[in-house]
Amino acid sequence: MAHHKPTLPTKTCAVCGRPFAWRRKWARDWESVRYCSERCRRAKGSAGRRGDGRGGAAQPGPPGA
Ligand SMILES: [Zn+2]
Repeated sequence: MAHHKPTLPTKTCAVCGRPFAWRRKWARDWESVRYCSERCRRAKGSAGRRGDGRGGAAQPGPPGA
């Protein structure tokens, strides 16, 4: 059996929850890598969300309806 599959270490993204495999660019930083991409990394870092989700309650209908 000469089937040798290169097994890369994998992790689970802390943002999107998807598994991602080791990448060369993370070779030096793999231990601290927590996100599958810079996008997720940013999504996690940017706290742009505010409130608890209660924003647009029932909108008033058009005037004069
Ligand atoms: Zn992700």
